[in-house]
Amino acid sequence: MAQMLIGGQLVGAQGGKTIPVRNPANGESVGDIPRGTASDVDAALAAAAKALPAWAAMPGTKRAQLMHQAALKMHEVVDEVAKLLALEQGKPLAHAKIEAERVAENLEYFAGLADKLRGDYIPLDDPAKFGITIRRPVGVVVAITPWNFPLTLMANKLCPALAAGCTIVLKPASTTPLATQRAIEAIASAGFPAGVINTVHGSGGEIGDVLVSHPRVNKIAFTGQTETGKRIMQLASKNVTRVTLELGGSDPMIVCDDADIRRATAAAAIGRFFNAGQACLAVKRIFVFEKVAQEFMAKFTDRASKEWKIGDQFAADTKMGPLHTETQRNEVEAQVADAVKRGAKVLAGGERPAAPEYAKGWYYPATVLSDVPEDSRMATEEVFGPAVPIFIVTDLDEAIAKANATVYGLGSSIFTKDMAKARRAAEQLDAGYTWVNDIQVAYDQLPFGGVKQSGYGKEHGIEALEGYTDKKSVVLASG
Ligand code: NAD
Repeated sequence: MAQMLIGGQLVGAQGGKTIPVRNPANGESVGDIPRGTASDVDAALAAAAKALPAWAAMPGTKRAQLMHQAALKMHEVVDEVAKLLALEQGKPLAHAKIEAERVAENLEYFAGLADKLRGDYIPLDDPAKFGITIRRPVGVVVAITPWNFPLTLMANKLCPALAAGCTIVLKPASTTPLATQRAIEAIASAGFPAGVINTVHGSGGEIGDVLVSHPRVNKIAFTGQTETGKRIMQLASKNVTRVTLELGGSDPMIVCDDADIRRATAAAAIGRFFNAGQACLAVKRIFVFEKVAQEFMAKFTDRASKEWKIGDQFAADTKMGPLHTETQRNEVEAQVADAVKRGAKVLAGGERPAAPEYAKGWYYPATVLSDVPEDSRMATEEVFGPAVPIFIVTDLDEAIAKANATVYGLGSSIFTKDMAKARRAAEQLDAGYTWVNDIQVAYDQLPFGGVKQSGYGKEHGIEALEGYTDKKSVVLASG
């Protein structure tokens, strides 16, 4: 059974209960985790608070050395962690391995920043005084992560927190805790003082409220659904705890009539079907100019039907594993059914695979729809699975207006050879990211975060450190 890391010790839940973790390909149990209680949350936060003063005071170069060492430790367990991730999440093993390696890369990136936190010198009117700003760690961080990219989203919070001098309590999703726990144990073995990194496990419904409304917490870093984010904001207001929220998205892709259609269809397919479409930055609505619409739809449909083989996550030729849970598949099916009932045409997929090898898993094929009503669920809600609607537009004005007609604002993309069109899209799309002629991939070096109901605050880039530090002003007058 996996355990929790609290104050440097591997422990079970105080109530002694556990939660089974299941393989989405066949429903079989692949391990157990402790069913954490409010007392476990208390213990983890107490450990993080105790470790804070010494960790915050440690020179940045020393914190950086430990983080570099942690990256090496992470490299040593990449295969083991990737296997756990594929087993519990359902993604193909090769993709799980990339995700595990990204944790080490993220540690390296932020290790490089740990000794570069600095303030400013600010001249004041009075010549006998001057101002400076200094950066202080915000304190104890609670990081809550979802099941779709458990390792990436954990690292996005852990690494800047450590670099900034914060201590942390991580709570992974209860359906994908195993890879995170193993990765954390490897990272912690680099020699971090006890209590700097802690984990608690359990269902968000049971321990979430205690975690986010606890008076010891100085910052909550959350990734998950918009509705959960709204609840966290409310609960955080109790102690005026700062929050960063990385929430849902409904990312538009605009394909102009001068686009390289081969390139655009390849990007749309990876953008929509990677991780079985369970990505916050997935391409979720495609707006294609009338002149190239038939060509785009034919080529994209061809890719969706032929290139995205579904199957067991450990088979070498699998491009898409099962969806993560039954609820997840039911949701996507209901969204597709709603569109079809209201006149949408299914160009690819649209039905559960019938072959017996798929019977025990939550499989769903790459699905493409046209003629989708603009007020249907597929157009207005986040579709967190491998199904995408294509809308035909006459020009860029219409494409941008429709792309922005959503409560979300996470990623966005445009395919065009016209720099003026690309620039307009970059300036006018309501999103935290716009890719031009590229697929929706987030980079360590570039700040990442949403607008509107996709949340606020940045992960990645130097900007991520702003969420884990306070800028304090100091006035120095001659004595
Ligand atoms: P979720 O909101 O159901 O759960 C996320 C985490 O929150 C889990 O650890 C869960 O246990 C916990 N949680 C649930 N209720 C809680 C509560 N009341 N208090 C505190 N914690 C609670 O999200 P999910 O279904 O696991 O993830 C999918 C969602 O995440 C999608 O909407 C997706 O777009 C979004 N997402 C966003 C980003 C981003 O960077 N913007 C990245 C990945 C996923």
